[in-house]
Amino acid sequence: MYLYKIVFPIALNYGFIYKSDEKIEIGMRVLAPFGKKNKIGIVWDEADNAEGFELKSIKSILDDYPLIDSKLKKTIEFCASYYLTNLGLVVRSAFPKRIFEKEELLDLKTTNPNIFSINPGYTLNDEQRAVYESIKQENFSVNLIFGVTGSGKTEIYIKIIEDMIKQGRKAVVLVPEIVLTPQYIDIFSNRFSKEIISVIHSRLTPKNKLDNWISFVKGEKLILIGTRSLVFTDFKDVGVIVVDEENDESYKQENEPRYNAKDLAIYRAKQYDIPVILCSATPTIETYYKAIEGKFNLFRLDKRIKNIALPSVEVIGIEKGSLLCDYTIKKIKETLDGKKTAAVLSNRRGFSNYIVCSDCGYLFVCPNCSVSLTYHKNTNDLKCHWCEARFNIHKVCPKCGSPNIEERGVGSQKIEEYLKKIFPDKDIERFDRDSVLSKKEFDRIIDKLKDGRIDILVGTQMLSKGHDISKIGLVVVSNLEELFGFPDFRAQEKALSLVIQTAGRSGRQEKGSVIIQTASGGGELIEYIKNHDYESFAKKELITRKQFGYPPFGRLVRVIIESKNRQKAQKTANEIAVILKKSESILGPSECPIFKLRNNYRYHILIKTVKILKTTAFLKENVGGFKEKVHFDVDPISFF
Ligand code: ADP
Ligand code: ZN
Ligand code: ZN
Repeated sequence: MYLYKIVFPIALNYGFIYKSDEKIEIGMRVLAPFGKKNKIGIVWDEADNAEGFELKSIKSILDDYPLIDSKLKKTIEFCASYYLTNLGLVVRSAFPKRIFEKEELLDLKTTNPNIFSINPGYTLNDEQRAVYESIKQENFSVNLIFGVTGSGKTEIYIKIIEDMIKQGRKAVVLVPEIVLTPQYIDIFSNRFSKEIISVIHSRLTPKNKLDNWISFVKGEKLILIGTRSLVFTDFKDVGVIVVDEENDESYKQENEPRYNAKDLAIYRAKQYDIPVILCSATPTIETYYKAIEGKFNLFRLDKRIKNIALPSVEVIGIEKGSLLCDYTIKKIKETLDGKKTAAVLSNRRGFSNYIVCSDCGYLFVCPNCSVSLTYHKNTNDLKCHWCEARFNIHKVCPKCGSPNIEERGVGSQKIEEYLKKIFPDKDIERFDRDSVLSKKEFDRIIDKLKDGRIDILVGTQMLSKGHDISKIGLVVVSNLEELFGFPDFRAQEKALSLVIQTAGRSGRQEKGSVIIQTASGGGELIEYIKNHDYESFAKKELITRKQFGYPPFGRLVRVIIESKNRQKAQKTANEIAVILKKSESILGPSECPIFKLRNNYRYHILIKTVKILKTTAFLKENVGGFKEKVHFDVDPISFF
């Protein structure tokens, strides 16, 4: 008889011991009795004799080959340990959901690749070629391609991928969340036949996701493109990993298990002794620092392909709360007359849009989340952007009874409407989380945009993502101040990156222009934006970070305490702070910027450390067993 530890895809950090009459390979998927039912789990380890326990038997072995090899097992264990999360949750996020839902046999046997062809790409220019030659020769190495938008970064890594494919190897390309995937499919399928490209994103059916995933793991498909969870795929035969738009926040998972796929991509590249390529026009300050310190290879591309100049930037002062000034409208008109698209960026998620009683100042907030509600005209209701709850509109103020209820702030919807009044005959579309819900709707807008059928596009951060939308001649940032509206030491970095990336959407074929509306003058950021000079900002920012011990000079762990009961949350936060102070340097406890979220009261403590492993070990050892929910966020990105 054999004993095995089985890990299930549930929120536990340990496995359960089962017996089996036959020997089973580690990493196999099995069905085992769990509670009253059977559950799919993974054979994690051989187990020692568990005397004194009545052991249950593994019910069946599901596949012919292990799902997890030793390298992936190590990665999952590292991830759970480093990010202070549960093994079971990492296992669950590491695979397409259906793997743990259906007992169907997975055909994981390695096979020959599908028949394919490769179209020749551009001949790389000298700048591109130098980067390509250098990365090509590398084994494990982290390579930052820091190049302005449209400088040919994508073309370089595609060429490296092409080489890999020709050598019979595979490639993994991590891309930011969903918005981008259709564009990546286009770019890749222009070069490689579809038979070897596997794309995985959240809008596929569970069955499609699984099929695409398997065809890559088996080796039928050679290129895997998709979002963060693909970092856990079997990397056998993979020759290069790309993390495109490495500054994108979607590489960090913001719910359990909280991990950063960019950092894990580097871990995996090291495991397989292959290069990883990070690309961005605005790398994170942490990545930039490692690159100038020589830990990463740094490649700069300062010129756009065909030497198209970067867009000219104009800064226009506006009144607080106003939408678009006359000059901006004039410029939009000129753009439309020139048969180009104008894009207007509005950042509605930064607490900017709210409903208030103009007599007593009563602010309409979400009862579950303590954040202001946003008015949505098309559904004629109030919506919370955090818990997605919707509320009816009040006719009178619930506090003073006044009927003078006003909408303040600027949202993309309001701008869209305003523009529709000014340009009634033009085709105006809005592109944000609210308007882009279905795949159909998304594809419709992207297609229209590519064909140049949209005159004005209004949108949120989503506008900053994406490749070549050559028809965009003008980008308007409707309100620069809105972009800082969040409590975060990275606020400037995020704002600048957003503006530079958005500006980069304009004038890919010929020089475009950017208008930045600001109510405050914009301060020093304006100079960096005008000169497209992210690097000077990064250098200045590093000095500040060093002063305060923020990343990359120190590491952070955020401890979040949540409870339905406010006193209990606060008490637990205080108790944890007392424990932490024994060994760590902390900020807080304080109320989270979003104090109430989905009916939970939230406190947080920020730990600043230079010895992250010592800190996480201390947390594992000393902070646990509380009745209230305690979450750890190691290397946090969001502070809400
Ligand atoms: P980035 O990834 O830096 O934004 P891309 O790789 O998408 O830039 O290149 C920008 C545009 O220039 C694309 O349309 C691309 O096809 C084109 N391009 C890239 N490299 C070359 C080259 N060597 N010769 C001609 N065109 C190129
Ligand atoms: Zn009132
Ligand atoms: Zn809410």
